Amino acid sequence: MSPSASEFAFELELCAHLEARRSGIVARQLGASVADPGGRILDVVCVAPGPEFEDRTAITSETVPDAAIESDVGPGRARYWKNAVPDDCHPDHARRAVERACEIGFFERERRKGREYVRQVARYPDWYGRLVGIENKPDLGRPGDLEAQLRTDVSLALVDEAILATESYVTRAHLNRIPDEVGVWRVHRDGSRTAQSGALESDLEVEVEVIREPTPLPVDEPGIEPLESRPGRTDIAVVPPDEKARARRRLAERAYGKGWRTYGIPDCRACEPTDPADTGATLPHCEWADRLVDANSRCGPSCPGYEPAADPDEIDLEAERDRRTPWVADPTGKRRRQSGLGQFE
Ligand code: SF4
Repeated sequence: MSPSASEFAFELELCAHLEARRSGIVARQLGASVADPGGRILDVVCVAPGPEFEDRTAITSETVPDAAIESDVGPGRARYWKNAVPDDCHPDHARRAVERACEIGFFERERRKGREYVRQVARYPDWYGRLVGIENKPDLGRPGDLEAQLRTDVSLALVDEAILATESYVTRAHLNRIPDEVGVWRVHRDGSRTAQSGALESDLEVEVEVIREPTPLPVDEPGIEPLESRPGRTDIAVVPPDEKARARRRLAERAYGKGWRTYGIPDCRACEPTDPADTGATLPHCEWADRLVDANSRCGPSCPGYEPAADPDEIDLEAERDRRTPWVADPTGKRRRQSGLGQFE
């Protein structure tokens, strides 16, 4: 695959570019279906900060489980844990959500008369604003399911804006094939690199040319989610606004917890990670392939350029995210005391 066609490299470079220019959270590869979980994965999601963004960063660096947010717990009065989660929540799921909420510091618990009670450490804040979903298709000559994916984004309207990002020259015919509401960006990448005085200098640059602005999508109205398609027929689900609102919150929470630095750095001598001062993030650049590489899918002994690294660099991408974005890796938290399940047993 040529560098220009590498969706992985394209995605990482675009994320680094967006992170440097937008406030809030940038994340990638997040589920954005409601009726058919996993049916639609958004390549990139940008979450604009809401009025209480800082309150969210003070709670936990992780994704808060939806059942814990939905719970009738609140920060004031502790409740028996079984009564704290929504009635429609399966007991196993409820238990896991309570455990997770305690583990990440969103709930604290106490023992009374042999029963476990929980409360929120803080009121769940109004922390996110607009959600933007970006579909990456560097090469429009190989569109795959692009049209169907974008039609889903528009008819479901889970995100406030849907955008197609490409490296291809965008023709009128391309624009006619995708819904009018979808914004279109042409992304110009300059991956030229020069070695000077033995040191690698990177001038990896990304510019975004707006070909068409997106039209805001009706996130507060019912959405239509296409499900299975058969010849002559497509099953759909109508998604009511309250379900969409919950799904939007789940999406924002997943974005907050996950971010976009979810790639690995190849354990290979050919890997020369980029300098975040130049590229906005430590990106897994391979000298042998002369492009960014996905350590999880392409790297290893089966690659002809592979040579095990003698002393692999320790690169802490979480610490980098903490330094370079408003996400906080280790908030002091609001727990009055740390409580593990073990202390009750
Ligand atoms: S395994 Fe291959 S693609 Fe991966 S860093 Fe090494 S040479 Fe590059």
